[in-house]
Parts: sequence; C-alpha cells; structure tokens
Amino acid sequence: MEIERSIEKWNARWMIVSGRAVCTSCMESQALEDCEKAFCHADTCAVSNQESKHPWGSLHVILDYARG
Ligand SMILES: [Zn+2]
Repeated sequence: MEIERSIEKWNARWMIVSGRAVCTSCMESQALEDCEKAFCHADTCAVSNQESKHPWGSLHVILDYARG
C-alpha cells in the first residue's frame, strides 16, 4: 500500500521528539513552527539533499493523502 510505504520512508528518515522533527542521520531538529524554513542538516549528514529540507511538509502531504 502506497501510503504505508510513504510513512515508512518518512519514519526511516525522521522521528518526532518533543514536538520537533529530528533527522535520524545527523540528529539535527526543527520545531513545527519553523516548518516553512529549510531544515538545517549537519554538514556531514548523509541525507542532506533537496528532498529532505521540509520534513513537516512531507508528513503533511502524506497525511493529507491518507485522509483522501
Ligand atoms: Zn540530517
């Protein structure tokens, strides 16, 4: 199922700790209120590419899609 796979992907890359999205690769985090800003990964982060700059946005899209 497509949604489950999207969530699994998101979950492999991010976790939510105390209301902040945390990159599982570099452990940098971003608060929900900063969701419109680009995520600041560490210089050494392996997933620091264009697709991984907006964790909250990605999650929002997945959940919107899941709701139908
Ligand atoms: Zn990172």
